[in-house]
Amino acid sequence: MSKKILIIGSGIAGISSSLKLKSYGLETTIIDKGNFIGGRIGTREVKIKDKSYYFYHGAQFFNAKSDNFQKIIQNGINKKYIKEYGSFSPPRYRGFESMRDFLMNLSQNLNITQNAKVTRLIPYSDKICAIDNKNSIWQTYDGVISTLPAPQNIDLMKEFPTLKKTLKTASYDACVALMFFFDKDPKNIPHFFDYYNKQGILSWMAAGSNLRFWTAHAKAAFSNKSLNKDRVLIKNKIFSEIQKIIYPFEENLKINFHSLQVWKYAKVTKVSSGPQIDPKFPIAIAGDFMEGPNVESAFISGDKAADLIFKRLQ
Ligand SMILES: Cc1cc2nc3c(=O)[nH]c(=O)nc-3n(C[C@H](O)[C@H](O)[C@H](O)COP(=O)(O)OP(=O)(O)OC[C@H]3O[C@@H](n4cnc5c(N)ncnc54)[C@H](O)[C@@H]3O)c2cc1C
Repeated sequence: MSKKILIIGSGIAGISSSLKLKSYGLETTIIDKGNFIGGRIGTREVKIKDKSYYFYHGAQFFNAKSDNFQKIIQNGINKKYIKEYGSFSPPRYRGFESMRDFLMNLSQNLNITQNAKVTRLIPYSDKICAIDNKNSIWQTYDGVISTLPAPQNIDLMKEFPTLKKTLKTASYDACVALMFFFDKDPKNIPHFFDYYNKQGILSWMAAGSNLRFWTAHAKAAFSNKSLNKDRVLIKNKIFSEIQKIIYPFEENLKINFHSLQVWKYAKVTKVSSGPQIDPKFPIAIAGDFMEGPNVESAFISGDKAADLIFKRLQ
């Protein structure tokens, strides 16, 4: 069956939709507005003497509880682009060299265009027309899967009220992520700090691709309140908390600020309820908001959306 299918978003939900459709013999085009694949599995690269290092300012690790995702992870471990992270139960995983490594390998046979934002979707006969700001030409597709975070997805679903209604039932917490680095390799600090159940504004702080490059994540209460606040104030508040944590371990370590990322839609707090595919047109939605607040759930939702679209196109 030869069909033209558009996937919007190269996060894990978009990649999993595309992989599943490929397994049915259907090629897809993935379009993403960002510079790199991965969406909220965010990696920020730093080059020192031609060697790359990475901050992980989005997802820090992922779990694999479902059979399908476990197969993906096992394959990645065998091919050395995924590794177990720490010794947790249930196990946690990361990309081998970087989180980006994981996605680059997973998507290497997929057709992905970055830096193109889909701005409108409209029904056309029994198909879907889409336009993006890079090509600026209306294209007609036999099927579409849109994987933007629910509140952003609503804007694209103006012509598809059933999906819009499903999207409106989801909600998210924000997350402020502060990236910082040390001048030299620390010797006495652990590779992560878990502050979820402790006092203070931080929830989690962990090294990225090596012990010099770190990201600190602020708790939801602080992050939600920070959305419209002055970035310098937010940075100073988080930075002073980081210093308080690090200096008891190594007081001679210089801590340098790198950058701040404010994720407005970071973590799903309420999963959507309602249909995932339009009752009439071949368009479906996928993303963590359909299944749960993590990488694996986003993967599962992409897989399900691909099944729905495949069935619709029979
Ligand atoms: C700070 C933070 C920490 C996290 N920590 C963890 C963790 O440790 N473990 C875990 O399992 N999960 C974690 N998560 C959650 C996890 O990252 C997400 O659940 C998952 O990555 C969501 O994937 P997705 O494909 O649904 O959405 P996204 O990754 O958000 O993908 C959506 C994509 O759509 C693109 N896009 C948006 N609008 C358009 C448009 N108009 N046109 C084209 N493209 C568009 C975006 O650029 C993006 O790439 C964390 C999230 C954040 C933000």
